[in-house]
Amino acid sequence: MKQKILTHNLGFPRIGANRELKRAVEVYWAGRSDESSLLHTAKQLRMENWRSQATLGIDLIPSNDFSLYDQVLDMTCILGNFPERFQWEFPTVSLDQRFRLARGSKQAAACEMKKWFDTNYHYIVPEFSRDSTFCVGDLKPVQEFEEALELGIRTKPVLIGPLTYLALGKSKDNFDRFELLESMLPVYEEILSQLAAKGAEWVQFDEPILVQDLAQNIRELFLPTYQRLVKVAPGLKVLLATYFGEVRENLEIVTSLPVQAVHLDCARGAAELPAWVEALPASMSLSLGVVNGRNIWKTDFAPALDRIEFAVRKIGVERLLLAPSCSLLHVPISLRQEGKLARDLHAWLAFAEEKLDEIHTLADLAGGNGDLSALHRNEIALQSRKVSTRSRNEELRGKLAKWQKSSVERHSPFDVRKRLQGKKLGLPHLPTTTIGSFPQTPELRAVRANYKKSQINSVVYERYIEQEIATAIALQEQVGLDVLVHGEFERNDMVEYFGEQLEGFAFTGNGWVQSYGTRCVKPPIIFGDVWRPHAMTVHWTTYAQSLTKLPVKGMLTGPITMIQWSFVRDDQPRSETAMQIAFAIRDEVLELEKNGIKVIQIDEPALREGLPLRSADAPAYLDWAVRAFRACFTGVSDETQIHTHMCYSEFPDIIHAIKAMDADVISIETSRSEMELVDTFSQAGYQNEVGLGIYDVHSPIIPTVESMERLLRKAVDALPSDKIWVNPDCGLKTRRWEEVTPALQNLVQAAQQVRNSLQSA
Ligand code: GLN
Ligand code: ZN
Repeated sequence: MKQKILTHNLGFPRIGANRELKRAVEVYWAGRSDESSLLHTAKQLRMENWRSQATLGIDLIPSNDFSLYDQVLDMTCILGNFPERFQWEFPTVSLDQRFRLARGSKQAAACEMKKWFDTNYHYIVPEFSRDSTFCVGDLKPVQEFEEALELGIRTKPVLIGPLTYLALGKSKDNFDRFELLESMLPVYEEILSQLAAKGAEWVQFDEPILVQDLAQNIRELFLPTYQRLVKVAPGLKVLLATYFGEVRENLEIVTSLPVQAVHLDCARGAAELPAWVEALPASMSLSLGVVNGRNIWKTDFAPALDRIEFAVRKIGVERLLLAPSCSLLHVPISLRQEGKLARDLHAWLAFAEEKLDEIHTLADLAGGNGDLSALHRNEIALQSRKVSTRSRNEELRGKLAKWQKSSVERHSPFDVRKRLQGKKLGLPHLPTTTIGSFPQTPELRAVRANYKKSQINSVVYERYIEQEIATAIALQEQVGLDVLVHGEFERNDMVEYFGEQLEGFAFTGNGWVQSYGTRCVKPPIIFGDVWRPHAMTVHWTTYAQSLTKLPVKGMLTGPITMIQWSFVRDDQPRSETAMQIAFAIRDEVLELEKNGIKVIQIDEPALREGLPLRSADAPAYLDWAVRAFRACFTGVSDETQIHTHMCYSEFPDIIHAIKAMDADVISIETSRSEMELVDTFSQAGYQNEVGLGIYDVHSPIIPTVESMERLLRKAVDALPSDKIWVNPDCGLKTRRWEEVTPALQNLVQAAQQVRNSLQSA
């Protein structure tokens, strides 16, 4: 079958190989450059991206996947869907207006930000109201198409599909935003007809909501919507992209649409391939996302080729396209700059450019004109990963296998533990504490960076951190908090700090991924079995404890958060990796306990974001996640108090899992939502203790005693007062001491006043 399979890409990272976009945008925001120089950098980046994709042998290269901030925000601008509070008279959006939607201004608050499906990318949430109107606010897709065409590249513009756009937004006043569909479609039609007029052959509509549970009335909107859209420009071929999972019952929607091609995410939805080819009408092509766009591992060519060959047999080579599973936005750009990575590990990885190279190679191999040595090289790399002793620790596996079967129950039920802990800790009613981190000054960050670069030695570094700890302890005593923390001054990031000390984690030099706007993160790579070669926090925590008679709380990051914010290995289930991490954390917990630490907090701020995209899959996830969390502290004494922390306010759908986690105390974010959450906990009959956030750490405002007291009274009315703790919403590392000190003084005073009134009542 010597025919070429068409290759394409769904989206390419836009930050630039050295985060050029971040720099250019931030310099512009700071007023140190002008619009034309920012737009120039942006154009250079787009051209570089198009050219490199062309060089890598991709046939259909995306456009309009670039963004100065966020692709959903761009869609908002294209649709002219500007929230009323911005009061913009002109339909077309300026550069500054685009940024204002994302960042707010003095006159109008920014639009909200939300996680893009289950990734760590955040998008700007579209807003809808009964009065929303639409008009072409921006011709970005057309302009970028023309720009690429000038380079001789006929791109495939990418648009967020109308139904996904609506679904991701937020309605005001309980208004059904899908009623706006009709009035939105003319803008899509206008963009499509302009693209067709400029010579576009393909356009890609992203409709990832098809991998989620959809209400029947929304499901029914797909067919008429796409029937209408394809009419505008009959010559323009439409590729409908689903990604991030299986489409399940929505397959009938996908295959009913009058589009030329549909995309299946084989990284997560490969099991559906037979059903897709079965249901595919003869007029439709199939795009197979055979290379995982969410992870950084080399693709195993053998099963990928099996899938491709299966599809070729069923539908023929001319109806097949190859692509990554989703946009490559979620992986770093290139391995070229990772010379410092261990050689073996380097050989196991593929970032965006390497992934595109894989697609091209797979297309050639499947088309019968490939270089067989590429297949061979792939086999060798994968084999070396499989047999690597660096990624396997047999002793750990043996222990874990035994331990896995044992119970993760604590010795006694909560009531018994509460009594014992109460005796041991001797805390007042409504005890006060913080979530862990204290302000990180520029000087502190510089000291840490210099230590990392070996510009200062460990003695000097340790002295410095100890000094910071001593200051923090003194301050907490002075303010009158009841359970103290050491302040986390040694941590740059709550996952990286632990990853760097555990075996099985690796760190890239330049593996940046966009998180939101100009913010990028460099996720650790969990490449092998995780274990703990030495203590990680015991020194700092016991040092802090040696300075005070009050209890100091040990601070650890939980297994789910560790895997959520890393690239995880794909050769074993995430649950197994989580369990290995739990085992390592448990070693740390036991060692802290042995060293006299009576309160230990295991943070799990990412537990909720790990929820699968389908509600039917949630119980299985929550099951292993809860088990991994509990495994962190099995075997600790009843007297040792285990805390956890989660910073969000959406608990109703996971409250049963929170119960099952059985932490003695859970601290949560409640200040912005005005304690709405306490009802969830009380209605669910939550038995253990709850720490309520009464200080909004995301705001520079110092809350008054009265405002915090008011919040606390609400809590005391809803929950038994002997089960309430008082704390800020989250860690204080991004705040300044000048804010934190008075805010904590007020917090302690608010607790004291409510305490007094309870006693006199
Ligand atoms: N202990 C961490 C801190 O205080 C928790 C951070 C978080 O919840 N994201 O910074
Ligand atoms: Zn938090």
